[in-house]
Amino acid sequence: MNLNLQGRKAIVCAASKGLGRACAFALAEEGVELVINARNAEALEQTAAAIRTATGVRVVAVPADITTEQGRTKVLAACPEPDILVTNAGGPPAGDFRDWDEQAWHDALDANMLTPIFLIKAVVDGMMARGFGRIVNITSGAVKAPIAVLGLSNGARSGLTGFVAGLARETVARNVTINGLLPGPFDTDRLHSVVAAEAERLEITPNEARERRMQANPAKRFGRPDEFGAACAFLCSEQAGFITGQNLLLDGGQYPGTF
Ligand code: NAD
Repeated sequence: MNLNLQGRKAIVCAASKGLGRACAFALAEEGVELVINARNAEALEQTAAAIRTATGVRVVAVPADITTEQGRTKVLAACPEPDILVTNAGGPPAGDFRDWDEQAWHDALDANMLTPIFLIKAVVDGMMARGFGRIVNITSGAVKAPIAVLGLSNGARSGLTGFVAGLARETVARNVTINGLLPGPFDTDRLHSVVAAEAERLEITPNEARERRMQANPAKRFGRPDEFGAACAFLCSEQAGFITGQNLLLDGGQYPGTF
């Protein structure tokens, strides 16, 4: 299927590793020019080089903390008129809500709610004026099925999801869609650190913890980042213009509900 994205321009945030990287790769394979971002310049440049080598597309790497205003300004300056925006940032820490002070909540809201909202604010009017825009927010399966120890994530990402649900109905008439992609367990560094912490808590080896988690999933495995990237590329396609305000869960069937 040709997604009709050749020559489009995308900003993909937090893309040196994991799910952001996979989205960047999948878009580049469709001929999309990229501005990619992450905090670590070296890892980001390695990813940019790998994408250029594999696909031949133009990739600009902008090292910056996307959760800061300066970081967002740098990224937007490198691509002021994107056709596609993929928002992403590291997830907040797990823990007990009794231990989280006001700053912990502000940090989570900044990273996982306000950063995507400010990025959307910066690009959405231009997309509407040009008659094409695809915005994908990488959130979490926790939006649909909250995970108690990830209270900061549950709260901040639900705020983003609620905000986007309203806006997405105002932009679609101009061919600008806004959707959430909700990862369940995907085989990335983030998941490896979650599994390592679980192993320590349960006093088992990381391999055992990994195996237990995989067996608890109906698919009996973790998701592959390239599967996530492919879903992102489809939501960004010309053909996906009638899909907006949706929250697509990619979790191997872990969420037990029908809807
Ligand atoms: P990852 O740790 O593999 O990669 C995170 C990427 O984000 C890296 O490139 C890192 O450099 C970059 N990054 C982090 N903070 C940043 C910042 N402030 N500014 C710029 N770049 C930043 O993580 P991942 O598994 O790809 O997760 C991506 C998002 O999806 C996270 O918010 C995570 O909480 C969420 N998520 C992941 C899973 C999973 O199983 N992997 C499940 C649910 C939710």
